[in-house]
Amino acid sequence: MFGIWEQCIDLALEEYNAGSIGIAAVIIDANGNVVAAGRNQLKDSLVSCSAIRMTSIAHAEINALNNLPWDKQKVRGLTLYTTVEPCPMCIGAIAMSRIRRVVVGSVDPYAGSVHLLEIDDYLRQKGIAVEFTQGKVEEICFALHYLSLRHYHKPEHPVFRALQARYPTYARKLDDLLNSSFLPHKELDKAQLMQAVDGEHGELGSG
Ligand SMILES: [Zn+2]
Repeated sequence: MFGIWEQCIDLALEEYNAGSIGIAAVIIDANGNVVAAGRNQLKDSLVSCSAIRMTSIAHAEINALNNLPWDKQKVRGLTLYTTVEPCPMCIGAIAMSRIRRVVVGSVDPYAGSVHLLEIDDYLRQKGIAVEFTQGKVEEICFALHYLSLRHYHKPEHPVFRALQARYPTYARKLDDLLNSSFLPHKELDKAQLMQAVDGEHGELGSG
């Protein structure tokens, strides 16, 4: 339904249900073939596509880069898709790879650091193009990010102020769903995720 995003979203949902931060990344080559994938594993050690787990560097983009086969590492024309705007560490890791195009699902106004590609002389000369998606994919990526952070931080954590300011309508919708107990606090299936984003949750709304 969403092309490459379908794989990213499925991986991010796997991550969310594993009890960690629902963020995933997929790398494609110039022909559009998926050559690597990784998901955030900051808080779970489950066997998945990620090799780096349970450490502060177990981010989705780092794991996707770590999974890039040796014969693809020097190839040009690679694109990295990530469900959430990369942090400073991941932007640095992307810049040190051959990836020169990044497609971002949702903005992270708290830790997102694509602006470093403009303000830092060394990073700027890498010539990395960044695109942001919009619409349904953006909302789904935001939802998985926001909901997983809600498991780990108190509502007064500054990350929520930043996310609510950037995505006021989406954040309010998710807060309402959490308060109405439509959204379970742990396991979330794809249908529930899509219903939450579509706002079509009438029959489950009182659950
Ligand atoms: Zn990161």
